[in-house]
Amino acid sequence: MEKEATSLSFMRILMEGIKEMVFVVEVDEAGSFTYDFFNQAVLEKTVLTPDSKGKTFSEVYPEEMANFLYERYREVIKTNEKKSYEDSFYTKENRLLYSETLLTPLYNETGKCTHIVSLVKDITNEKQAKLESEKIRERLEISSARYQSLYDSNASAIFTLDFTGSIIGGNSASLEISGYSKEELLAENFVCFITGTDQKLAKEHFLLSKRGEVDDIRLQIVKKSGALLSCLVKFIPINVKGTITGFYMSAKDMTELDAISGLYKAGEENFQIIAENVHDVIVLMDQYRQYLYVSPSSENIFGFKADSIVQKEAYYQIHAEDIKRVRNSFDYAAKNSTTFREQLRLLHKNRGWIWTEVAGTPVLGEDKKFNHMVIVARDISTQKEYENRLRHFAYFDALTELPNRRYFQEYVTEKLNMDEQSRKGLAVLILDIDDFKQINDQWGHEIGDGVIQEFGHRLNRCIQGDNIAARLGGDEFVVLLTEIENEAQVTTKAEAIYQAMQMPINVCDLSFEISISMGITMAPDEGTSISTMMKRADLAMYQAKRKEKNTYHLSLT
Ligand code: GH3
Ligand code: MG
Repeated sequence: MEKEATSLSFMRILMEGIKEMVFVVEVDEAGSFTYDFFNQAVLEKTVLTPDSKGKTFSEVYPEEMANFLYERYREVIKTNEKKSYEDSFYTKENRLLYSETLLTPLYNETGKCTHIVSLVKDITNEKQAKLESEKIRERLEISSARYQSLYDSNASAIFTLDFTGSIIGGNSASLEISGYSKEELLAENFVCFITGTDQKLAKEHFLLSKRGEVDDIRLQIVKKSGALLSCLVKFIPINVKGTITGFYMSAKDMTELDAISGLYKAGEENFQIIAENVHDVIVLMDQYRQYLYVSPSSENIFGFKADSIVQKEAYYQIHAEDIKRVRNSFDYAAKNSTTFREQLRLLHKNRGWIWTEVAGTPVLGEDKKFNHMVIVARDISTQKEYENRLRHFAYFDALTELPNRRYFQEYVTEKLNMDEQSRKGLAVLILDIDDFKQINDQWGHEIGDGVIQEFGHRLNRCIQGDNIAARLGGDEFVVLLTEIENEAQVTTKAEAIYQAMQMPINVCDLSFEISISMGITMAPDEGTSISTMMKRADLAMYQAKRKEKNTYHLSLT
């Protein structure tokens, strides 16, 4: 009798309590499969009806689907092993769901497989989160590649040469550096633009690069105006399927660098660092943290003339929150002869604080002691802004501007790791609008969106302090409450939310009275994870829906 009661309640849990789909399929002698049992979730999400029991796959599904299932189930019988696979399907409401299915064989006393249990887990949220994060990563990669190429293309003039050295193309910097138009450059041999005394050297180097020896060389370019420009030149072979078809000739204007190196007689190493970064702002700072030199590009990038900066005290234009970190990095690098790299906010004359990346390299004196630091500063505000926007995308819901599931989970996980008393004061509330689909069906998705948006705003207004509200997706929201001491406090909060939703929601001259079902869990034990808390709240919400909509249910486990 007792056993029967247990198995009955077990059946009820299977039938009603489990949100995942459960199928039990009988394997008959002839090797075909018939449905023996499935739970409520199956009835809600698939085309199966109570009448489908006792039917085979091909009796309830289209041929393609039936064959797909047949193959999976056959494999379990053949291998005698559990099998899992991922799949996607449309629900009755035409929602695309992703699922993970586990097929487990059941045996009778003689060891024969009589049934297969299929447990289908809805992994739509995980899948979407993964797709979303992949998209974001892709966008980040594109943005950093674009940033890099922007920098690279800014840095040098590039001439495209054919195998004989004739110019067949060039970037905009190549026109700037030479002073000629594209038409004037095309079809001319690059040697024509090199000063007479350097031409022999240029040809030799060109020949060497044909043999694969690529090296930098100093050459004087003759501009259209007749002026000479000292450049660092490199010939890079263009390799098409193993054959060299031409060359890129990169030429870097070294005028500014020469001025610096002349000024400070910097060593080889120092020179190189500067050479690579001429389009950023270069700052030299001595061991007393005084400016020795600031490159003229500072006016372009930070709005301040180099002369005016040199006279100022060091660090004066760095944001107060960044100064300590930068000072420490500088001191550590100077003391240990290592490089440093920091991101910080620097003052722009008109634009206020702008995000900047600085890279510092110490230069030692003849006594091998720190002499001065070469700092290269680059404006990264565009990149930073882009990163912030991406971060926002990854953590916030676009429709309601509320935090999303990921943000919520990370936030609560942090709170769950707090001391016992704070942890015990946590409560999670999951809210789902009742019969929301009717609004979509009757008035369209956009009106539905408007309702969700206003719902989110109202919910957010109910939340203060450390508490947060997030949108889980669709018409489902979640709230974290902190410092909850007892049940009464949590229900007071829940009722305040109901109160806030009582006034009709107006969208485009339409007025909607909505109700919500809510599941609550509170006072998590040590080691309880956010996913467990959400599952509990979700189950409680589900119970509220089943019992009577427009109510909340408190789970006390
Ligand atoms: P229940 O009372 O059981 O909660 O039923 P319901 O009609 O509210 O349906 P349910 O909560 O299961 O599903 C919410 C629906 O919301 C499903 C989907 O059609 C719709 N939906 C999901 N995301 C969006 C969205 O971004 N905008 C709009 N307008 N509708 C959405
Ligand atoms: Mg709903």
